[in-house]
Amino acid sequence: MENLKSLGEPQEFWDYLFQISKIPRCSRKEELIRAFIEDEALKLKFEHQTDQIGNIVVRVPPQTNTESEPLRIVLQSHMDMVCEKNEEIDHDFSKDPLRLNIIDIDDEKWLTAEGTTLGADNAVGMAYQLAIMKKIYSGELNLGPLHLDLLFTVDEERGLSGASKIDRDLVKGEYLINLDSEEDDEFTIGCAGGRVFKVEIKDERVSIEKMKDQITPLKLDVMGLMGGHSGTDIIKNRGNANKILAEIMWKLNKEFTIYLCAINGGNLTNAITREAHAIFYVKKEESKNIKEKIEFYKPFIKSLFEGIESNLIINCEEYQENLNHLIIANDLKDKLLDLFYLMPNGPLSMHPKNPKLVHTSDNFAVIKTKPNSIKIKISTRSLNEYGKEVIYENIITLFNAFNFDMDLTIITDYPSWDPDFSSLLTSKAREIYKELFNQEVNIKAIHAGLECAYFSKYYPNMQMISIGPDIKGGHSPDERLKIGSSKKIWKFLITLIKNLQ
Ligand SMILES: [Zn+2]
Repeated sequence: MENLKSLGEPQEFWDYLFQISKIPRCSRKEELIRAFIEDEALKLKFEHQTDQIGNIVVRVPPQTNTESEPLRIVLQSHMDMVCEKNEEIDHDFSKDPLRLNIIDIDDEKWLTAEGTTLGADNAVGMAYQLAIMKKIYSGELNLGPLHLDLLFTVDEERGLSGASKIDRDLVKGEYLINLDSEEDDEFTIGCAGGRVFKVEIKDERVSIEKMKDQITPLKLDVMGLMGGHSGTDIIKNRGNANKILAEIMWKLNKEFTIYLCAINGGNLTNAITREAHAIFYVKKEESKNIKEKIEFYKPFIKSLFEGIESNLIINCEEYQENLNHLIIANDLKDKLLDLFYLMPNGPLSMHPKNPKLVHTSDNFAVIKTKPNSIKIKISTRSLNEYGKEVIYENIITLFNAFNFDMDLTIITDYPSWDPDFSSLLTSKAREIYKELFNQEVNIKAIHAGLECAYFSKYYPNMQMISIGPDIKGGHSPDERLKIGSSKKIWKFLITLIKNLQ
C-alpha cells in the first residue's frame, strides 16, 4: 500500500478511510463502526448521542461565539456497507479487514478492495465527517460561528430504516448535506417516493372436463426482455412482459374462444418484468389460427422496442404437461384481461423543468395465479406525494370498476424528496462548483428512494443536497473510488460549508 502522503490532501480523510476499512459493518451490524465513531468523538472531546434505532450524531459546536443563534448544518453519511465478494475469495465480512489496493485505470488512480466490495459507499462520507471533526479539534479548520451535527445512520442499504426511524430530535439544522452520491460532477436534490401494493382477486375454478375431446392446451411465453430497476431504468422504455402478454391475450380473447388456466409473470416489485406466461385451452380447430395470429402480431410488438429489446421472444406452442381441465370462470377471465390491458405501466409523466426526469411512473410487476385467487403486485413512484396519491388512486379506481371480490394490501410506502431546482442551497452549490472548478455541475433528481426523502419528510424546512466523489461499480466487488475525485469533493464541501454562513 502506498503511503498516505501520495494520496493527497487531506491526510485525515485517507487515514480514517483506511481505519474504517478494517471495521466490519454489513447492514444491521453497525455496532463496531458506531463504537469507533464514539471513541473518536470522545478522544477529540465532542459530544455524541445515539437514538433508539442506532443512528449516532456527533455535535461540533461553533468555534467563535455569536450573539444570535448559530447557523446549523447537518452532514450525513451511512455506516453500513453492501457486503459482496467474488465466490473464489475467502473473506469473512464479520471479522476480516478489507484488503485495499490502488490500481491505475486510464491514467487515474483508483482505490479498490481485493475480491470484495470496497464500502467506499459510504465510508467516504464518514471519512469526510471525521476528518472535519479532527481538523476542527486540531485548530487547522475554523468554521467560526457555525454548529455542525455529524449524523451517521444505520441500515441504508437494506431498507433505509435508520433514516425512516430516526429520532426527530437527534439533529437540527437549516441545511443537510448528504455525502452518499457517486459522481463528482452531479449533485442530487430530489428523489421519487413510492407505494408498493398487492391485490388478491378471489376466484373459483370451473371444470371443462366435459369438453376435453374438443379442446387443446397452449402456452404463450413472453421472454428475453432486459428488465432492470423499476425506478432508475423506467425511463429506458424497456418492455414489461406482463403488459406484452396481456395485450396479446386480450386480442386473442376477442377473436377466439379462450379458456384461461393461468397467467404468471414477474417476481420482484423493484424489477421491470422480464418474463410472463399464459396457459389456456383453445378449441382444437382454432389452435392453428391462434398461433398464426400471434406470429402476425410479433413484428408489430418487436418494432415497438426496436433498438431496446433485441432478445424479445414471443412464443406459443402446445402445452405438454398434465392439466386438470380447471379454468378461470369466463366472465372473470374477460374482466382480468380488460384490467391487465388497461393497467398503466412505465413512465406516466416527466418533470416540467427537466424533461429527462421521470416524474411519476408505475411498474406492473407481478401476476401470480394461485389455486383460488389471482395475485397482482404493483409498484408506483412519484417525485411528490400528490403524484404518488394520484397514480395509486387511478389504479385502485380501475380495480374497483370491475367489482372484483378482492383484498388490497399496501406492502411499502416511502416518501418522496421533491426537487427544488431553485433553492438557496442548490444555487450556492452550483455557483461555488463553477467558481472552484470552472465547470457546470449537473443538478439532478433520481427515480428511486434515498435517505434524504425521510429527512425531507421529518424536517420539512431543511434544505438538502447529496454529493460525493466518483465511485464506480457500487454494490459489487468491482467497487472503486477515484482518488483525485475525493480531494475535489473535500475542497467543494469545505468551501460550501463556509459559504452558507
Ligand atoms: Zn450509500
